[in-house]
Amino acid sequence: MKIVPGDKVIYKFSPCMEAVMTVSPGDTVKVETNDCFFQQVTSEEQVLNEIDYDRLNPATGPIYVEGAEPGDLLKVKIVSIDVKEKGVAAVVPNEGVLGDLVTKPIIRVLNIEDGHAVFHGIKLPIRPMIGVIGVAPAEEDGQWATDSPWKHGGNMDTTDIRAGSTLYLPVSQKGALLALGDCHAVMGDGEICFTGLEVPAEVVLEIDLIKGKATKWPLVETDDYTAVIASGDDLDGAIYEAASQAVKHIKDSLGIDWEDAYIIASLSVDLKISQVVDPKMTARAAIPKYVVSTQKLIESV
Ligand code: CA
Ligand code: ZN
Repeated sequence: MKIVPGDKVIYKFSPCMEAVMTVSPGDTVKVETNDCFFQQVTSEEQVLNEIDYDRLNPATGPIYVEGAEPGDLLKVKIVSIDVKEKGVAAVVPNEGVLGDLVTKPIIRVLNIEDGHAVFHGIKLPIRPMIGVIGVAPAEEDGQWATDSPWKHGGNMDTTDIRAGSTLYLPVSQKGALLALGDCHAVMGDGEICFTGLEVPAEVVLEIDLIKGKATKWPLVETDDYTAVIASGDDLDGAIYEAASQAVKHIKDSLGIDWEDAYIIASLSVDLKISQVVDPKMTARAAIPKYVVSTQKLIESV
């Protein structure tokens, strides 16, 4: 299996990036990811403003996918996410949903053992996920720092992007140029306090390509649904984008009137909050597979 080492990182998803490895559709690749602090935070006694902020949110890659061209859909099956044995969470003044209530910065380093992170005697079952994963953006969208989500993916901080799920990213540049990092051992929807349980990880991905089916926003497929992951300046904007694309997917894949698709969405689609703490907010609209299968949904794009 090809391995992308963790020292090959980017801090910006740019339309033009130099690949560190080439894979072919169908290949399995192991990616070593860094935590969002690039492992600079190791103890609870550390002072957060003393770390190098230029090294936050590294994404390992980019990986060039042979044959990928603008207009294609990159299919990324997440086979496994093996997290290291320690995770970091932090509270930072003026960050997170309740940033105005934070009086002092704190760091907590949690041990991860037997599938649990332990904190204040609570055993939190881990549910590893990928926070940052994306491809080179379109020229018209410009470059995006790795701390922001957008149409290319990026810092979507979406709990559904975990082992067993499949992520679909619209390709805007030749080779797609996939990069990822910022895994969380566990996180609640929303990422309320500004961090998940931040951990380095080894991520195994199966990479494939669907020609000519680029969606407007990334999709994530779980056992039960296909979710449109959309971002906006605020949650309202993110929800509008996710919902409008979900209704369009239902309409196009079932070949029905927009109004009927809108009703079906209202009766079956769950709107979920991905994160509300990054430079853009992210929401997702989950279309149940009993309404339309992921395959049928993508075929109608
Ligand atoms: Ca993140
Ligand atoms: Zn993170």
